[in-house]
Amino acid sequence: MEELYLDNAATTPCDPRVIEVMMPLFAEDFANPHSTTHAPGERAAKAVETARAGIAALIGADPREIIFTSGATEANNLAIKGAARYRARHGDGRKRIVTVATEHKCVLESVRDLASEGFDPVILPVDRNGRLNPDHLREAVSVPTALVSIMAANNETGVLHDLPVLSRIARDGGALLHSDLAQAAGKTALDVRALDLDLASVSAHKMYGPKGVGALFVRRRPRIRLEPLFSGGGQERGLRSGTLPAALIAGFGCAARIATRQGEADARHLAHLAEALCNSLHARQVAFSINAKDAPRLPGILSLRLPGVPPLALMEQVPELALSVGSACSSADLAPSYVLTAMGLSPEEAAESLRLSPGRFTTPASITRAADLIACAAQQVRGAGPAWNRSRSDARI
Ligand SMILES: *Cc1c(COP(=O)(O)O)cnc(C)c1O
Repeated sequence: MEELYLDNAATTPCDPRVIEVMMPLFAEDFANPHSTTHAPGERAAKAVETARAGIAALIGADPREIIFTSGATEANNLAIKGAARYRARHGDGRKRIVTVATEHKCVLESVRDLASEGFDPVILPVDRNGRLNPDHLREAVSVPTALVSIMAANNETGVLHDLPVLSRIARDGGALLHSDLAQAAGKTALDVRALDLDLASVSAHKMYGPKGVGALFVRRRPRIRLEPLFSGGGQERGLRSGTLPAALIAGFGCAARIATRQGEADARHLAHLAEALCNSLHARQVAFSINAKDAPRLPGILSLRLPGVPPLALMEQVPELALSVGSACSSADLAPSYVLTAMGLSPEEAAESLRLSPGRFTTPASITRAADLIACAAQQVRGAGPAWNRSRSDARI
């Protein structure tokens, strides 16, 4: 049974070119990049700095504005908690932290955690298409606000926020602006200067790089100050102590350079695959709707609702199809996706939704096969009727 991977929004495979760049840094060039008293250490340090420049170039930053972390989760925590704590410690009275209901859990929980430190978390709603109404942000920042955090692209639906407009509102309100770019970077053109961002998070494993490495963009002019999350040797300009994983970072840099060159072609490929998938499902008479259908979205993420077909029952029929229900981090608890319910879907509608995310290495032939498998499984699940669905999904819980 050949496996078919349609879960690139959860993580992408490493591009073979990325693996090639990483291998020597695990083997002969293993030295500590901070040990610059010897040649091997210098070589590792050079690999790190080359990567830093590649990542900076992808998002229009200066290399000195890139701080390496273990991933976007850590970068988001560092941005949000670091900026809030620095401001509070230096006598800034602004306590409000504003974000959006459909953000990744690591953003939402970072913002919520700050309540126990005297901050005032505000979580703004979205509309049926997963978009934030600019007026809601304007109203929120009319109260003095320390920080606004709004993602560029959503990981469950692919919905793109109107960042240029939202950025201006945050700026006019005097707040710092952070954006989680984990899904958008490398998938759509992004420029931290054009967007006037102060802080931005990226992750290697969402752009065909390795897991376990990410970065935070920290603006230099004007300089954005952060309180570090951990104490230690003061690496990464004092913002992130710990020995840098030179091999992972070199892979990340390579992935970023490939994305800079190939991002547009990837996007065309993904748009083509998504269209082919929808057309094939229609041709096979599968009833479905696209969540956030009318919003601008990333081409590689399709959140589909198949009425009467619980995704778990479908996945039981086609175990060779790797897709996801909600997002990877929350699919263990089987609760309907909070992202979809925030968009106004009922818990039942949200529970009938699944996410298909093809990637750079997905072929048109595998999309046709996925459509065949889904059509066949949906027919069996629907044919078996609601009683079967209920007892089978109960059994799974
Ligand atoms: C994957 C993802 C994260 C978490 O990134 P890690 O590098 O796995 O910690 C954060 N935000 C978004 C939008 C993501 O898609």
